[in-house]
Amino acid sequence: MKEADVSEFRTLLIAKREEIAGHSPRREELWIVQSNEQIETVQLAGQREFAARTLERETKNLTQIDAALKRIDHGEFGICLDCEEAIAPKRLAALPWAGFCLHCQELHDARRAADSVEAQLAA
Ligand SMILES: [Zn+2]
Repeated sequence: MKEADVSEFRTLLIAKREEIAGHSPRREELWIVQSNEQIETVQLAGQREFAARTLERETKNLTQIDAALKRIDHGEFGICLDCEEAIAPKRLAALPWAGFCLHCQELHDARRAADSVEAQLAA
């Protein structure tokens, strides 16, 4: 990958990182708020759940972005972590933090899906 392209991705990743970090729900918002009003409690519970889900998703996203920035520093950006082939430019344009090529990502997803089915069966 060309140096200019890599620095473009770095800018993109840092911008995305700031965007997520800037509006992530704060952990304090997840604290349980006691309320005498039943309806209010339900609404708060819904908001908390939404905030918790958002936080979980964004934390995961930030981890992926940080890992991608680290790969840029190490000159490994755009290389699949599994098969070490170049990740398709189209895929990187859509998911700049992608660590795997489409093929390996599909294998991972399939394995994870199988794991979760097994976990459900075992439960
Ligand atoms: Zn791969």
